[in-house]
Amino acid sequence: MRDRQACVWEFRGRSCKVLLGRSALRDIMKMAVMALPHETGGTLAGRYSDDSRVAEVTRALAAPKGAPAGKTWFVRPSDDEDPALHQLFLRSKGQIRYIGEWHTHPGGILAPSRRDVATLQDLAISSEVASDTPILLLIGGDIACKPGLACFLFDGQNYSVGRPSVSPPGDVGGMASRLAKRVRHLLGLKLVL
Ligand SMILES: [Zn+2]
Repeated sequence: MRDRQACVWEFRGRSCKVLLGRSALRDIMKMAVMALPHETGGTLAGRYSDDSRVAEVTRALAAPKGAPAGKTWFVRPSDDEDPALHQLFLRSKGQIRYIGEWHTHPGGILAPSRRDVATLQDLAISSEVASDTPILLLIGGDIACKPGLACFLFDGQNYSVGRPSVSPPGDVGGMASRLAKRVRHLLGLKLVL
């Protein structure tokens, strides 16, 4: 069954689209809220359309253990091994692949830092990584109450900023806020137990 899309970003200059599935967004918001006040992040996995114009993110994975994270930085080395991604690839018979990276900027802006740009450009040209055009998904602002999301498409030299698409209807921030609220609720219950 196909996951319903929570967010769609268009890259007009490149005639490309990124779709983010609801369960992937839910997992991202859960990991993002749980990691507060620190940054966290990981890998985006999914599939490309036959014409390579649409990337559909179906899964968001946590970073492999050992990826260093701090309050304002999160680093994923380009040669990092990711056993969870490898498992997904095998189990889907090669359908689900590496698509890019996601990470949080708690209380921060929705723009890639200089380090982010360097990391993603590094990933784009790395022979170890299965995409020449990795996507970066950033979650910033007030992550627990009013998170914002932004999507960027990289190549070895440049990056483009995705425009949230109005179709399917529903605002990106609203969906993320509702998910963040639900995650806070779940975490609260967990703490009480
Ligand atoms: Zn960053």
